Amino acid sequence: MKKYLLAPGPTPVPEKILQVMAEPMVHHRTPAFKEKVGKAIEGLKYIFQTKNDVLIFSSSGSGAMEGAISNVLNPGDKAIIIRGGKFGERWGEIAEKFGVQPLYIDIEWGTAVDPADVEKLLKENPDVKGVYTQLTETSTCSVQPVKELGEIVSKTDTLLVIDAISGLGGQEFYMDDWKVDICVAGSQKGLMLPPGHAYAAVSEKAWKVIDECKQPNYYFDWKKYRKKLATNTDPFTGSVLHVKGLLVAIDMIKERGLENMFYQYRVLGKAVRAAAEALGLEVYAHPSCDVATAVKVPESVDGLALVKILRDKYGFTIAGGQAPIKGKIFRIAHMGYIEMFDIISVISALEIVLHELGWEFKWGAGLTAAQEIFAKEYKF
Ligand SMILES: *Cc1c(COP(=O)(O)O)cnc(C)c1O
Repeated sequence: MKKYLLAPGPTPVPEKILQVMAEPMVHHRTPAFKEKVGKAIEGLKYIFQTKNDVLIFSSSGSGAMEGAISNVLNPGDKAIIIRGGKFGERWGEIAEKFGVQPLYIDIEWGTAVDPADVEKLLKENPDVKGVYTQLTETSTCSVQPVKELGEIVSKTDTLLVIDAISGLGGQEFYMDDWKVDICVAGSQKGLMLPPGHAYAAVSEKAWKVIDECKQPNYYFDWKKYRKKLATNTDPFTGSVLHVKGLLVAIDMIKERGLENMFYQYRVLGKAVRAAAEALGLEVYAHPSCDVATAVKVPESVDGLALVKILRDKYGFTIAGGQAPIKGKIFRIAHMGYIEMFDIISVISALEIVLHELGWEFKWGAGLTAAQEIFAKEYKF
């Protein structure tokens, strides 16, 4: 059976990338490899839309999240953490482990924070060191108002720290223009690579805070990575394979252009939402992000069975819901190397499975809705 990977991470890896990652091993301290690292960092700056330093870690995305707390916040320091999903909660869990005092803004899952609430809490607590949120909260497929938060936070001494692990390269984002101080990302979502690389872009304002931070770090000591950056290397034996794959990914992204990519994923998202609605289903998040869509499972349908049948019987791996929304939503990714006909295929399979589970709708209604949007708006 042919397999389709349409979960919000890991995502499909293009053949061109797999090929370079299968080449014979190279040494990580050779001039030829350092040149590759230098190019990878330049490429990442384009994708982040930043002039800031970009650090590369051989870990999954959460390693960069941990570093974005442990290099910035001392025990007892205050941080505002926006919680509206699993990954907002992860910021909180890391902060608590490092003895940070979190000030939580709990929002309803699947919604966006009101920037005014952040502004108010910051005014009441001017000693807050960082505001932590997601660009796209993958567990609910919502998008957070990062640009508006940048306007507010940049007027203070506080840092704005964004987890763009699923959003980078797919959801509109301009790190410098939007005044973001630290942005973390991972390899296995929009960047089309296997899991195993994490990235952090760090502003000058953030480095000043990091230089003063006393929290102990070893593997994720960002100051050590910054020092090594000057010679295009890292303190440890980084994943040379990921660097090679990343260079191909960067070429692919540059060839299409970031703006075009933002546009394309927006159209994919629009098509998935239109299909869901045409099938009588409801989109979960408001506002819904451009890199994945969460759809509510109707009461009468078994949500866990839906995801399982799609995978085991038809070869489509999508994602279900996590924690309180387990079984209540399903999520289809449209990031990275996922294109129009992947979406057409998964909608087709979804119709078949919904029918098997007793949901009533007009055959082809989802497909038609998606095709109408693609015919009008998709650009090749
Ligand atoms: C996937 C994801 C993470 C976790 O990344 P890992 O690579 O699994 O550590 C964190 N935040 C968001 C928004 C994600 O989508």
